[in-house]
Amino acid sequence: MSAPEELQYGGYCPECKTHHELPAQPAMQAAAALFTALEENTLPLATEYLFGPARGKMFGVLVARDRTGQEQILKGFSGQHNGEWLIPGWVPPLFDVNQFTMINTPEEKRIKSLSAQLADTTCTREIQTLKAARKTRSQTLMKELHHLYILHNFKGEQRPMARFFPPDKGMPTGAGDCCAPKLIQHALQNELTPIGMAEFYFGCENRSQTRRHGHFYPPCASGCAPILGFMLCGIKG
Ligand SMILES: [Zn+2]
Ligand SMILES: [Zn+2]
Repeated sequence: MSAPEELQYGGYCPECKTHHELPAQPAMQAAAALFTALEENTLPLATEYLFGPARGKMFGVLVARDRTGQEQILKGFSGQHNGEWLIPGWVPPLFDVNQFTMINTPEEKRIKSLSAQLADTTCTREIQTLKAARKTRSQTLMKELHHLYILHNFKGEQRPMARFFPPDKGMPTGAGDCCAPKLIQHALQNELTPIGMAEFYFGCENRSQTRRHGHFYPPCASGCAPILGFMLCGIKG
């Protein structure tokens, strides 16, 4: 496992009109240790499914110092792991999981029932109506869920995540669910000063073959690059 010397995590900060970055090198040792623990299955976290049809995912570590100068290592996984947002020992998502579930579960049921009705009908007009209804419901649900994502930074400021994406296009799927934003948000909410961060892929390579087992990757351009600069704003060097 190795990463290019210059690998960094961060982005453009619209507040300061400059870039804020975290280097990957200080987190390399911790990343390698996490990789080994996942390979040897010594963590209370099932990894077999990452080699099945669900395929692999990104994992990340953030090395930080606490107020006493002690080194702390945070671990994160992208999105959900095996259907779970919260797993002890791993950083949580950016939103309140109870709130998310309260909005998501009933609406997801309604959307599934529309799909079931669609599968049952052959009437063209009804198909069109049902499809339109399903699309509207899904889009509204996505918007409501995205409202739960509030980004913080090291100056104690907060902004709705939606503000960092063009309003006409909306937010890309999975924005805010990558390891990097989860790790940074958890660090700043626990008064930890990050020193380095690294993200690697673990499991069966993705369909488009842009992610391979044991390789390090920079922050994703669609979801992370627009937000990490703001989140790192105010960090002490
Ligand atoms: Zn990302
Ligand atoms: Zn800034």
